[in-house]
Amino acid sequence: MASSDCLFCRIASGGIPADVVYQDQHVVAFRDISPQAPVHFLVIPRRHVASLNVAQDSDRDLLGRMFLAARDTARAEGVADGGYRTVLNVGADAGQVVQHVHMHVLGGREMGWPPG
Ligand code: 5GP
Ligand code: ZN
Repeated sequence: MASSDCLFCRIASGGIPADVVYQDQHVVAFRDISPQAPVHFLVIPRRHVASLNVAQDSDRDLLGRMFLAARDTARAEGVADGGYRTVLNVGADAGQVVQHVHMHVLGGREMGWPPG
């Protein structure tokens, strides 16, 4: 897929506006347009990786950076102490809609378990 055809590539490059809460050379975090919790943002790599299923061993550093960006942004958003949930939907059964790997970070309320 060309990055011009990918919604999250376009957000990462600034071509489509988003409420960005963190960014660096490798990853971008922005608020979900349809928040499912008081705090709900997505962490994505700038580089197009369609899903965790197709991530390579060489993406190890990038995937680690996504987690560390989630950690820092959760703290900045004030949910680190209360707790928060990180979610990667992978594939159809999990309900992955956008084919660019993204980590949901949800916080600010108690979460149920198991997830739906
Ligand atoms: P998925 O179901 O693929 O794991 O999650 C995709 C998420 O992207 C959804 O929570 C949806 O609300 C969010 N989303 C879809 N389009 C946009 C958009 O244009 N901007 C933002 N900020 N979030 C989006
Ligand atoms: Zn993409």
